Amino acid sequence: MTTELDHLEVKGLGVSFDGFKAVDGVDLTLRQGRLHFLIGPNGAGKTTLVDALTGLVKGTGHAQYRGRDLLSLKSHQVVRAGVGRTFQTATVFEELSVLQNLDIAGGVHRTAWSMVLARRKVPSYVEEALETIGLSDLRHRPAGVLAHGQKQWLEIGMLLVQDAKVMFLDETVAGMSAEEREETGELLRRIGPDRTIVVIEHDMDFVRTFADIVTVMHAGKVLTEGTVAEIQANHQVQEIYLGRSAEGAAHA
Ligand code: ADP
Ligand code: MG
Repeated sequence: MTTELDHLEVKGLGVSFDGFKAVDGVDLTLRQGRLHFLIGPNGAGKTTLVDALTGLVKGTGHAQYRGRDLLSLKSHQVVRAGVGRTFQTATVFEELSVLQNLDIAGGVHRTAWSMVLARRKVPSYVEEALETIGLSDLRHRPAGVLAHGQKQWLEIGMLLVQDAKVMFLDETVAGMSAEEREETGELLRRIGPDRTIVVIEHDMDFVRTFADIVTVMHAGKVLTEGTVAEIQANHQVQEIYLGRSAEGAAHA
């Protein structure tokens, strides 16, 4: 059931780098159960917004989630509060197996004692995550030999075992094949109903297929928000983003 508590409510978020406002007064309501896409040209402030919400850069304003303000938490406290993110470059441990990567990620919620116990057997939540991301058969492979798409799914699996209820996926489908993108979209639909998922993406076909709601950022601000049809019909969006995208000029 979706309750007010499951909303992440961002109000007046700002991030400055030496006086330059990379994020400038952003209001956002992120609701559980819908795939929320964040688009906008390179440099719009998308990654910085996520950095601020996950304790990696200092943000001003408020970001209320389950009775706490995320902006007052350190990054490890943000993870424990159930908020996770991926990075534009993959962060899996390449020399470790798929299973080991998941085990380490799951460690954030476990005590040292339960980690010792867990060695005997693959914990059920890891087994579940493997199944969900479709990597059950590759569990003993070193993450470094996985295909690009599989690595990204492993990262999503790492958020699943962390029990992240809010997930920010920063250009996760960039560089994926059409099939990988399709599978990723299906994966997000499977895990989406119980979670608040925000996907940063440039590929408009992917956005059109999977977005429930789209927020367009430009120069640190929210330009507009709506359904795919609504944002595509918006002249300003066409001018600053979609037009360029159509010409292949807007890229990560
Ligand atoms: P996006 O993810 O939308 O492409 P970013 O959030 O990465 O945009 O960047 C927004 C703006 O903030 C850019 O102008 C970028 O150069 C600037 N920026 C990002 N991180 C830093 C930093 N650590 N120091 C100074 N400027 C930064
Ligand atoms: Mg970015």
